[in-house]
Amino acid sequence: MQKIATIIGTTGVGKSQLGVELCKALGGQIINADAMQVYRGLDIITNKMPLNERQGIPHHLMDFLDPEEEYKVTEFKRDATQCIDQLTKEHQLPVVVGGTNYYVQSLLYQNSLIKDEQTEDAYSRSPSPEPMPELDALQTTELYSRLQEIDPIMANKWHPSNRRKIIRSLQVYYQIGRKQSDIIKEQQEHHQIHGSQARFKSLVFWLYADPSKLNPRLDDRVGTMIETGLFDEIKQLRKQVLLGQVNIPGQDLEIYQRGLWQAIGYKEFDPYFTALETNSTDQDGLSKIREECTERMKAATRRYAKRQVQWIRNKLLPTVWNSQKSDVMVYLLDAGDLKEWDTNVRQKAIEITKAFQADEELPVPQDLSETAKTMLTRNHIQDTQTRILTWKNHTCPVCKTDKGDQVILYGDIEWEQHRKSRWHRKSIKNKKLEEIKHKHSLEGMVS
Ligand SMILES: [Zn+2]
Repeated sequence: MQKIATIIGTTGVGKSQLGVELCKALGGQIINADAMQVYRGLDIITNKMPLNERQGIPHHLMDFLDPEEEYKVTEFKRDATQCIDQLTKEHQLPVVVGGTNYYVQSLLYQNSLIKDEQTEDAYSRSPSPEPMPELDALQTTELYSRLQEIDPIMANKWHPSNRRKIIRSLQVYYQIGRKQSDIIKEQQEHHQIHGSQARFKSLVFWLYADPSKLNPRLDDRVGTMIETGLFDEIKQLRKQVLLGQVNIPGQDLEIYQRGLWQAIGYKEFDPYFTALETNSTDQDGLSKIREECTERMKAATRRYAKRQVQWIRNKLLPTVWNSQKSDVMVYLLDAGDLKEWDTNVRQKAIEITKAFQADEELPVPQDLSETAKTMLTRNHIQDTQTRILTWKNHTCPVCKTDKGDQVILYGDIEWEQHRKSRWHRKSIKNKKLEEIKHKHSLEGMVS
């Protein structure tokens, strides 16, 4: 089995840097697994590592596609596999640097993704294949009760006010003719029967920084991107849309789902450039809009980072841990403190990779650091399907809403949070006080 190293983790955590460091130390080359960085040029909006920082290490599958082209996961899988074959022949270590989750997973595992993709198309990709105006016209409560009849499992999973999810579940039923929860069940069984077969012997480094440390870094990076020319790139992209060089059927909404136009920043700065292009606002108004857009881009970046971690914890780790063979090993490296990068990240990664290449015994992932121990626990980690199928809502026995209704918590996490909340603790305290009062009044009656 061919050996590869893979680096995953959120945007802005230093994956590209570690990739170069590993390649330099061990004689390797980078294979890019970021769906945005396949595009030619536009280095800032796609977060490409500057050429001078790549230190002469070849980067494959990067910088080769025109903005209007699309690069499907199957194409990525084919090209990356060829690349790995070639590098292995040349005795170079293939180092996959991932930003796009489904690219990475499709490369690491044999049969996990194809089915996932179809199912995911069916229930979680947006926009949905065909809009259904007849559903859009209905009230959310009505949609919800419809879903309760059609697919109670999914109705239980979604919050009754989560209109978007409710509509999607209904769409799956009306358009595919099957209950969404049945599709998920089938997917789960498929996973249990077939497991997921690793395609390579892979060492996976999960570069992790706690959000409290990562988020300020991400915010700063947005500032730097703006200073170094983000707006020129957005202008260039907008020009292409205006000139009709990009063929977009339908409306603006759709463009953000496709190719390079999904890049964080493009959509977020639309109000600013629209104001600029139409000359509709004065300088003050303009800088206010610019400020708002900047905040929007920062928020979108943080959300993206959060989703990336969720994928690792909810999809990748269960897949790794559920497979019988340990062909894929995941190591978390703590990149929270940049001053400790050399010890906590670079040296550890090199050491482990050396042992991996020499077929020596590898360390236990949880032993690497306190953070690794915390983040690589198996409790609380469940695959998405299991989570949906075992979803439980809780009714709090003590708390009441302003209207006097019972309080419902959607899912175990919400329930846990609620139990720790000030509101809940106060309700318990009040209840106890009432009980004591009640007891005293009873005692008063006796004496
Ligand atoms: Zn409560």
